[in-house]
Amino acid sequence: MKFNNIDFDTYFKHYPDENGYFGKYGGAYISPELKVAMDEITEAYFTICKSSKFIGELRKIRKEFQGRPTPISYLERLSTSLGNVQLYVKREDLNHTGAHKLNHCMGEALLAKYMGKKKVIAETGAGQHGVALATAAAYFGLECDIYMGSVDIKKQAPNVARMKILGANVIEVTHGLATLKEAVDAAFEAYAKEYKTAIYCIGSVLGPHPFPMMVRDFQSVVGIEAREQFLGMTGELPDAVVACVGGGSNAMGMFSGFLNDAVDIYGVEPLGRGSALGDHAASLTYGEEGIMHGFNSIMLKDENGEPAPVYSVASGLDYPSSGPEHAFLHDLGRVKYDVISDEETVDAFFTLSRLEGIIPAIESAHAVAYGIKLAKTLKKGSVLICLSGRGDKDMDFIIDKYGIR
Ligand SMILES: *Cc1c(COP(=O)(O)O)cnc(C)c1O
Repeated sequence: MKFNNIDFDTYFKHYPDENGYFGKYGGAYISPELKVAMDEITEAYFTICKSSKFIGELRKIRKEFQGRPTPISYLERLSTSLGNVQLYVKREDLNHTGAHKLNHCMGEALLAKYMGKKKVIAETGAGQHGVALATAAAYFGLECDIYMGSVDIKKQAPNVARMKILGANVIEVTHGLATLKEAVDAAFEAYAKEYKTAIYCIGSVLGPHPFPMMVRDFQSVVGIEAREQFLGMTGELPDAVVACVGGGSNAMGMFSGFLNDAVDIYGVEPLGRGSALGDHAASLTYGEEGIMHGFNSIMLKDENGEPAPVYSVASGLDYPSSGPEHAFLHDLGRVKYDVISDEETVDAFFTLSRLEGIIPAIESAHAVAYGIKLAKTLKKGSVLICLSGRGDKDMDFIIDKYGIR
């Protein structure tokens, strides 16, 4: 399918290009030492991803450890309550550890094993990526260093406990605001010293090349499965596909299965408390081109051109940029990016729980809320929503802050 002069039949061959660019977005804006390390990862990845041994091992892990394929569920009661549009969810919440993140963490850790690395390094904000990577490290017998700001360590005690039980070293970062940004800097610094024996595992379709490509490829299992399952269930493709966008990994995984189809694609960003800078994390909707954390994309900037403070009820969506491929698809118009507020999200969190018996992650509830909105505006058709994770982690916070609705 051609869209805006891009031929989506051959899209994955050309995007990213050999330097990691999706149009003008992406690349690798890093120190020469780190560039050497990233080039080594790129080369290893291109060799390994064609090896039938690697592919076979990843398939076996997905089936026997992760619980893939995850099903698609038809939301009968919710659809009926809204009218004539049929809503479906791809159940990434049923992955081991409760979210899509294990899709790329198992891939990254398997790559680490094939490269002969002894250790995986990452940062974490809310702790979800840290837990998924600690799980993968335990599975493969790799050491695992997770950098985390002291503010987040206090806020996310259950995830810190999980990582420690899984055998990871949680390394406290105390400088600056002591949250995600400082943790990223500390993890990169440690990696620059240890890259011969360790590998950095980025938690989304972010960072320098090859990570936006690699994480997309590992997540593409979501879209490939979903397309085939949806066709099997209904005999057709969905009219629209929806996913929430933080860094953008669950969305890229889902979207990659449908880019070449006549399907409308929607990426949902967190509007938080409103459209003023500092009250949301809707980088593609309100941001501008800029470089941070080693890549060029669309980002939210403060008055000094630095990454702006962001806010969302969902800590997993709370990042001042999104992956470069989303910036590219945004400018191209192939994916439509829109926003959902905290309030709409919390409503959708309870609606899905009450009507369907599925408690969604508060991140995923953004996509559910958008699906509900679409169902109200479209008169007929079907919408497939990526339910990126389960909501157990959010229950205490939601009840504390919003009560039972
Ligand atoms: C981390 C997380 C997200 C956001 O990350 P993406 O890379 O944008 O997918 C969304 N949903 C859940 C459940 C998460 O844990």
